[in-house]
Amino acid sequence: MKILVINTGSSSLKYQLLEMEKEKLLSKGLVERIGSEGSIVNYTIGNEKNKFQKDILNHTDAIKVVFDILTNPETGVIKDISEIQAVGHRVVHAGERYSGSVLITEDVVDALEECAFFAPLHNPANIKGIKACQLVLPDVPMVGVFDTAFHQTMPDYAYMYALPYEMYVKYKIRRYGFHGTSHRYVSQVASQLLGKKDSKIITCHLGNGASICAIRDGISIDTSMGHTPTGGLIMGTRCGDIDPALVPILENVEHLTAKQIDDVMNKKSGMLGVSGISNDFRDLEDALHNGNRRAKLALEMFDYRLKKFIGEYAIVLGGLDALVFTAGIGENDPETRYEACKGMEFMGIYLDEEKNAKTRSELAEISLPESKVKVYVIPTNEELMIARDTKEIIESMKKNSKKPDDELVMSN
Ligand code: AMP
Repeated sequence: MKILVINTGSSSLKYQLLEMEKEKLLSKGLVERIGSEGSIVNYTIGNEKNKFQKDILNHTDAIKVVFDILTNPETGVIKDISEIQAVGHRVVHAGERYSGSVLITEDVVDALEECAFFAPLHNPANIKGIKACQLVLPDVPMVGVFDTAFHQTMPDYAYMYALPYEMYVKYKIRRYGFHGTSHRYVSQVASQLLGKKDSKIITCHLGNGASICAIRDGISIDTSMGHTPTGGLIMGTRCGDIDPALVPILENVEHLTAKQIDDVMNKKSGMLGVSGISNDFRDLEDALHNGNRRAKLALEMFDYRLKKFIGEYAIVLGGLDALVFTAGIGENDPETRYEACKGMEFMGIYLDEEKNAKTRSELAEISLPESKVKVYVIPTNEELMIARDTKEIIESMKKNSKKPDDELVMSN
């Protein structure tokens, strides 16, 4: 079964085509700057990377370009788009509506449109991707896989904010959590490595956006991001948790509107805001080694916050079997992993410093054999997870010979 995985942003579209018998990646690519002149198309087939420029006006045209790449007699990997048996779409926010992946029907699209209230930057773009694919592939079943779904298992005392209860009733203001597909994928790999399902795992998804998750027996019981992806850990340009009363204070002293404060908290804060240098850990570590004080401060703040969450979640889980690092920083930055594990021997975490220093972008156990808590680096693969969910839903649809109009939900 060949499955196309689509992840659309407001002006970008990422794709992967996978052959699911052996879970083999056939082609992947990224269309950027959709809607402006000179959109950029990057794609990889095998190990060969290619790039070209073309004016792409909208997401439907972007999908058509992707299909041209996939079926082109010279560069293509399939003869005809009819070989694509299903499409899996990444969607950021499904509110409280879906706790698992779901076959996309008109009702589902309507529900996701309602959820755009929660993720105004992401959901409308994701829906554009779904509609563009439906136009070009009207008879192909499609599945939605949601960043929030994995965290729907959190208990109410973990997801509620101590605001007036009516705010929850009226607006569904609560913690949702994000990066769920990544936390789910790496925790499944970790529990396979541990050889048991009934495990206590903390997964640290540390990329430009960063979140941490406490997982008991395969189920998310708490996570650091909140109602929006701004909360929790300090991130590349996002502030993470701050005193909420700072919002009206900023409004007063800097005379900022709500939209401007939102911009400050999401685009000008975090590692960039504190260091004044960059959101990228490579630049910050270079600056630190050259004696830059603010780069040092930003990195220390990041490590301190991360460590506090690890401690908190180990307590919430009542112990720990595995600590997992993933995403850009988690997979590639030994210094951050070292700082997170330093001084944690009392909790049974013993890092193999040599192995840690050598590990980049590969699956590895980086704890010492005597470490009670296993420490793993596990490269994330959200696209594979989306493709697996899509395959499972399509197969069960076929087995039950359901028409795509019936709502089919897969629990996590
Ligand atoms: P992501 O959002 O998962 O793609 O992660 C991107 C971030 O990972 C970048 O902004 C960097 O901060 C970080 N990163 C990527 N490669 C490295 C590396 N080799 N060393 C340290 N940090 C890295």
